[in-house]
Amino acid sequence: MIIVPENQIAGLITPADCLVAVEGVFASMAKKSAYNFPVIREAIGHADALYGFKSGFDRDSLALGLKSGGFWPNNVEKGLANHQSTVFLFDADNGRCRAVVGGNLLTALRTAAASAVSIKYLARKDAKVLGMIGAGHQSTYQLRAAVEQRPFEKVLAWNLHPEMLSRLEEVARELELPFETVDLDRLGAEADVIISITSSFAPILKASQVRPGTHLACMGTDTKGKQEMDPELIAAATVFTDEVAQAVTIGECQHAIDKGLISKGDIVEIGAVITGRHKGRSSPEEITLFDGTGVGLQDLAVASAAVELALSKGTAIEVDF
Ligand code: NAD
Repeated sequence: MIIVPENQIAGLITPADCLVAVEGVFASMAKKSAYNFPVIREAIGHADALYGFKSGFDRDSLALGLKSGGFWPNNVEKGLANHQSTVFLFDADNGRCRAVVGGNLLTALRTAAASAVSIKYLARKDAKVLGMIGAGHQSTYQLRAAVEQRPFEKVLAWNLHPEMLSRLEEVARELELPFETVDLDRLGAEADVIISITSSFAPILKASQVRPGTHLACMGTDTKGKQEMDPELIAAATVFTDEVAQAVTIGECQHAIDKGLISKGDIVEIGAVITGRHKGRSSPEEITLFDGTGVGLQDLAVASAAVELALSKGTAIEVDF
C-alpha cells in the first residue's frame, strides 16, 4: 500500500495537474464511465463534528475509492485545520487498499480546478476582469487556478468581512495583477468572470447586477440551505454543473428548482461540453453559470494523480498491508 502524506502534497502536484485530472473525470462522468455513490454526511454527536464520505468509481481510469472526512469546528484551538479529509484508493481489480492520500490541500486544489475547467470551456475568450466574491481559505486557490485560463488584467473583489480581503490581495500582487476591493454593483458591472466561494446562506449577487456575457463559477454552495446567487440569476443564465443530482439538492440550483424557476432538464453537466456533446457558450451575450457542488470523483482523480507523481518522483511511502 502506498502512503502520500498531507505534507508531501504541496511539493508534488500543481494546479495544472489537478486541472487535467478533474477535466478527465468530468468527461468520464459525461460518458457514463464514472459515477459518484450517494454522499454520507452526519453530525456525529461528538466534538460538534460533521463527518462523512464521498465516493465513486471511474471505469476509464479505474479510480475507485472514497474521501473520508468532515468539519471539526474546535480544531483551530488545537492548531489543526477545521476541515480534515483523507482519500483512500482501492485496486479496482481486487479490492485491496492501494493508497492513502492526505486530502486537505487536494480538496482546495480540486475545487479550484473545477471552476478553472468551467472558465476554460465557458468564459468568453476575451475575458479581462476577474471578480472574486469570498476571501476565505479556498479563495486564493480559486484565484491562482483561474488566472491560468484567461489573460486577466485586473481582479475586483468583495467579501462580507472586508478585513479578510488582504489574503487575496497578497496573491494578486504575487501574480502581478492589479487588485481592487469594490461593492457588488461595480463587481457585477465590470467583471467578465465571477467566482463565488463563501459559506453564505442567503443570496449575495442579484440578476440585475450581472451584465450580459459574464461567466459565473459558483463554488461555495455545497450543502442544503447554502446560497450565493439570486434564483432569478440562475434562471437568466445557461446553467452548467459537475453533477445534476447534486446541483438540484445541495448546489446553487436547489433554490431556483424549489421556486420552479428552472427544471433539472435545464442544467447541463460540464462533461458534455468537454466531450463536445454540448457546444457550451452560444453567444458573447449569454450569461453562463457553473454550479460547482464538489463530487467524490474529483477527489479520487486528484489523489490518483498525486499517487502517480509520488511513485514517479520516488517519494511514495510503500508499506506491506
Ligand atoms: P472559510 O471559512 O475559510 O471562508 C468563508 C468565506 O465565506 C469568507 O469569505 C467569509 O467572509 C464568507 N462568509 C461567511 N459567512 C458569510 C455570509 N453569511 N454571507 C456571505 N459570506 C460569508 O471557508 P472556505 O474554506 O474558504 O470555504 C468557502 C465555502 O466553499 C464553504 O461554504 C465551503 O463549504 C465551500 N466549499 C465548496 C467546495 C466545492 O467543491 N464546491 C469545496 C470546498 C469548500
